Amino acid sequence: MKHRWHNITFNITLNLIFIITTATAGMASAPQKAPLHFVFDMDDTLIRWIRPNEKVSGTVIPAIGDIGGYRYRVLDGAPELIASLLKDHPGVKISFYSNGDRTRNHIILKELKLPDGRPVFDIAHKIFSNSDVEKVPAAAAPRQNNGYGIFNSGTKEYWKKDLKKIVSDGESTANVVLIDDNPAFVKKGQEKNLLFAGKKPDAHLTAINELGNKSVEKFFTDRAKLARVRGIIDRAYELARTEGIFISDALWKIQWTTNNAGNLSYREELLRDMKLYRRGFKRLRSVNPSFRLATAIPGTTPLGCTTRHLRQILKNPQ
Ligand SMILES: [Mg+2]
Repeated sequence: MKHRWHNITFNITLNLIFIITTATAGMASAPQKAPLHFVFDMDDTLIRWIRPNEKVSGTVIPAIGDIGGYRYRVLDGAPELIASLLKDHPGVKISFYSNGDRTRNHIILKELKLPDGRPVFDIAHKIFSNSDVEKVPAAAAPRQNNGYGIFNSGTKEYWKKDLKKIVSDGESTANVVLIDDNPAFVKKGQEKNLLFAGKKPDAHLTAINELGNKSVEKFFTDRAKLARVRGIIDRAYELARTEGIFISDALWKIQWTTNNAGNLSYREELLRDMKLYRRGFKRLRSVNPSFRLATAIPGTTPLGCTTRHLRQILKNPQ
């Protein structure tokens, strides 16, 4: 009798272990199963319109002529960033959500080429434009206070990108990442989905003699920002996998902190975290071995920079 009881207890224990193990494994892997979505803002995230006083260099869209009077510079690593996500995350869906005009957006995405020559337009899951941005008068919209002021636009209108448009009906937005230079476009309740691409640069510097009163560090953090973005994606994906959480939750943990006043603030140290730049740079290089980070250092190739140079500069900012 004693023996039987022992066996029953043993079986119950085994079953419990089995249930706990499978439940834990299920929890850890569930967020990974849904498709990952990356949604790119366009202006000052992937491209930048060339101001009349700026030098025309690098990859320009369109190569000849203009689009409605404008020409755009492709930001360093933009094609590589998209290509590396397609390579490293099979089944990933890449979309674009810009407050620009639909026709303009389509022309740009057809002209923007991946390192293998494919137009970005051809790999796009969805493309949304200004008619898809929700324009809510500030007076009518509940302000996102309670420490969330960073997601306010500070203007008369709220312009919001709704990530529910990206996913299918009933699909969760927990695996959607919005990469944008402007947190004010984030819709209420979708704050976790933002990967902040860094503030828009006030100029597109191409050489050291254009630095003026700006530091070499500023030059790098502006020009290498998409390498950093790629590094954050890697870090967030890793954290999501390790902790069995959604990538949006991982982005939230990594990027934001609450200051003494109870307001949400971006972890500024991420902007000078060399590990992120280096990690992202490796990923960008993996789809285009000739990709270099821009440098303002005399004596190196005009726009070439190795991670060693970058590390030296960020250690000793001018
Ligand atoms: Mg933008």
